[in-house]
Amino acid sequence: MNAAIPVVTRFAPSPTGRLHLGHAYAAIRAHDHARAAKGTFLLRIEDIDGTRSREEHVAGIVEDLAWLGLTWDGAVVRQSMRLERYADALARLRDDGLLYPCFCTRADIAASVSAPHHGPDGVIYPGTCRLLGSGQAAARIASGTPHAWRLAMDEAARRGGPLDWIDRAAGRQHAEPLAFGDVVLARKDAPASYHLAVTVDDAAQNVTDVVRGRDLFRATDIHRLLQALLGLPTPVYHHHQLLTGPDGARLAKRDGAPALADLRAAGRDGVALAGDLRAGRLPIGFAARDA
Ligand code: GLU
Repeated sequence: MNAAIPVVTRFAPSPTGRLHLGHAYAAIRAHDHARAAKGTFLLRIEDIDGTRSREEHVAGIVEDLAWLGLTWDGAVVRQSMRLERYADALARLRDDGLLYPCFCTRADIAASVSAPHHGPDGVIYPGTCRLLGSGQAAARIASGTPHAWRLAMDEAARRGGPLDWIDRAAGRQHAEPLAFGDVVLARKDAPASYHLAVTVDDAAQNVTDVVRGRDLFRATDIHRLLQALLGLPTPVYHHHQLLTGPDGARLAKRDGAPALADLRAAGRDGVALAGDLRAGRLPIGFAARDA
């Protein structure tokens, strides 16, 4: 019999605000999954978005998780320290002829489509910049025009071939990355997109089990394709339920969900709160839902 591969999970928050109950729920799920398997639980700060990430929120995340009684293994990894890894992955995809520069602004995109097609992540890019000749694109880059890099999805999906991934609850999934269109892999204002950085890092950190919310379920199709294109292993996925607030909407920072820091300041016991979340004892009006 083969020795079982040690389980590695991670919690990967973006430091764009204080953590709320939904984050606590997600962190506990990933932490407990690793601990139950006597595995490793990693904390990775997804701070590549320099315009929205704040240093004080990084410190806040560490405090909030400690308050909940969660412990992680090894040093906290920060994506902002790993930019050359993302640049290497981008260069590889570019050398494989799978990327093209995109100079469009949001306004350009809105103006160029009269009847936008929607994918799982919003409006599908109409492909305007794919029509630029390589000389024209190179000249615009040379003149310093801000640009993103997009994946030429039809060609990428063709090269990737049929791809599956496993969700522990929902079973085997057939990846349909074409539904997203030409996704951005490097942004104008950030050296890598979430999709690229998360795929590169989960592989680099030997993550075996990605435990995260169901809001990212379909995004896994893109991650699976990137794994195939970059020759990276595929973890097993556990997309857990999402907490909804009294208005029935998913908790999100922008909706003013109660921050863990506020609960702490009000004298709540974090370890007891974590126990309540584990047992499904949610505050009145809150629920765990599939989507
Ligand atoms: N950084 C992402 C977020 O804050 C989570 C990434 C993931 O778990 O794959 O939503």
